[in-house]
Amino acid sequence: MTALQAPGNSPADELLSASREILLLVDRESLTVRAANPYAARVLGLTPDELIGRDITELECSLQDVFYWNSVGLGQVEEIENVDGLYARADGEALPVRKSISRAVVDGRDHLIIRARDQRPAQAVEQELERTTSLLRATLESTAEGILVIDLSGRIVNFNHRFAELWGLHSASLERGRDRAIFRHALRQLTHPSAGMRRLRELLAARDDESFDTFELKDGRAVECRSRPQTLASEVLGRVFSFNDVSKRIRQARELAAARDAALAASRAKTDFLSQMSHELRTPLNAILGFSELLADEVSDASREPVEAIRKAGRHLLDLINDLLDMARIEAGKIELCIEAVDLAALAGECIELLRPLAERHGVNLAPAPGGEPAWVQADRLRLKQMLINLISNGIKYNRPQGRVWIEIERGRRIRACVCDTGVGITEADQAALFQTFSRVGEHRRKIEGTGIGLAFTRKLARLMSGEVGMLSHAGEGSRFWIELPADAAAAPAPKAESKVQASAPLCPPGTRLLYIEDDRFSRLLIERLFARFPEADLKTAENGAEGLRRAREHRPALILCDMNLGDMVGSEILAALRADPETAAIPVLALSANAMPEEIEAAMAAGFDGYLTKPVQASAVVEAVRQTLAHVKAI
Ligand code: ADP
Repeated sequence: MTALQAPGNSPADELLSASREILLLVDRESLTVRAANPYAARVLGLTPDELIGRDITELECSLQDVFYWNSVGLGQVEEIENVDGLYARADGEALPVRKSISRAVVDGRDHLIIRARDQRPAQAVEQELERTTSLLRATLESTAEGILVIDLSGRIVNFNHRFAELWGLHSASLERGRDRAIFRHALRQLTHPSAGMRRLRELLAARDDESFDTFELKDGRAVECRSRPQTLASEVLGRVFSFNDVSKRIRQARELAAARDAALAASRAKTDFLSQMSHELRTPLNAILGFSELLADEVSDASREPVEAIRKAGRHLLDLINDLLDMARIEAGKIELCIEAVDLAALAGECIELLRPLAERHGVNLAPAPGGEPAWVQADRLRLKQMLINLISNGIKYNRPQGRVWIEIERGRRIRACVCDTGVGITEADQAALFQTFSRVGEHRRKIEGTGIGLAFTRKLARLMSGEVGMLSHAGEGSRFWIELPADAAAAPAPKAESKVQASAPLCPPGTRLLYIEDDRFSRLLIERLFARFPEADLKTAENGAEGLRRAREHRPALILCDMNLGDMVGSEILAALRADPETAAIPVLALSANAMPEEIEAAMAAGFDGYLTKPVQASAVVEAVRQTLAHVKAI
């Protein structure tokens, strides 16, 4: 050891200078420092002169140190290894060290050599480690999920309080070494403990897999469990499980599903009711409208007017039924539109002519159709007609004697038909309530017949056609209701000819046999009367399914008209039986039914019917369908 006051340049001196340990040579007798390395003086904040000759008990200041040097003073010298101690620095700070002391004889005298290492960096690392561990623990404890860590042998390594809480574990059962008790306690709570056990074993065996399970508990709770391998430097150490109580979420999902099922069932019940109601009303209407149509051609002039009145009333009834069904359908999102180019100006003219008698009855002056160029819009023709009729008839109904109704067409990228009237008008407050189902406003509503469906339906339809409906009104002066639709610039289709019952044109080759299977007597009578106009057709009828099948085999008709709800069979069963028999398999079958819901028609067409006519049928439509089907069969 080289004394500080005489630093040399030997390799040993270099070595001592470079040392990052406190090195002190202490005289055993006097307990004073005899030599020290430069690092010792620096770290203790002393000059070499201050250090040499200093009593070691002034430098080493922990209680342990005091005891030690006391023993040395009494002659009990003990060598020590890696013992913690404190050094008093010149600035008053205590320097923590870890030191070793060994005996040495220098210059013939007993000495002690102290090697001490500054512990501050190590302590800082330790403190940091402690802090990180505490933070990790705090994080583990603050997660909302229950966490469990298991090593590869299945031993519990760690878990948080949430885990204990979730599985109702008490502090006693959480002591180390109670792993089996913890697993048993958790598994016992499962609705299927043995399945849970199997799954746990699987997961412990599957080192690298991730897992996701939902466990049902006997107390009604549901717990989601995810697990992943726990890895350190790509080595799998075990598995981390996280548990989540999802009872509330699952309960809500179940309630939602139940509500949706109930809504679906209600919607199905509504559809069934509509379909049933439609069917029940259409069957008698079929007779009213069909016979009045046929009679109108046959009766004397004197009887024509009442027959026409019956037909009109029937037609009106049918319109009402259709309106109600349409509204229900549109609300159920079940309406289908056929968008094509429609001349709004011409259509408005048609509607005006249709409503002229109504205007006359109300003493209202209905202006002629708007003139000018065609106004082509993209719309469903039939529905648009319905919308216009609704607005014009409102203009007439909610008017005053000698009032006026007229239509203006405004052209542009979108085209507007404005139905204007000089009627009672609508107050501003009432205007806000318009376009809502069953909303009728104003004092006059009690006196004037109506349902409050028309405007709501018109707006819904317009929007389905990418259009809009709106209004302007002044109470006591009149109103201006408009329908706006996208213009169809490219359109100029040729007008379609109206089909008529052409008794003169032959329907089919003479002697062509037709069969009509129908249980409703009036419907049978109607079709018999209709085909009586075509002597070339030989119409047979059957009152039920079984008789129909028998007659089909017996007469081999060229075409069968078939009702869909017969007493003994439904239409699809009859069709299946016909198709199954080679003798009748190829006969085309047209459905003729009061089931008018689109899904019923679709189902029938999918089952293989060659066409579908809804009751009340128009005579011309039946004749046309029969003519076309027969022509098609002949062509192939
Ligand atoms: P309805 O005419 O069958 O009552 P609508 O839905 O067509 O049903 O009309 C709803 C309400 O709007 C009517 O009851 C009436 O109060 C008001 N209304 C509609 N059109 C007019 C109009 N041109 N002038 C005054 N009031 C009208």
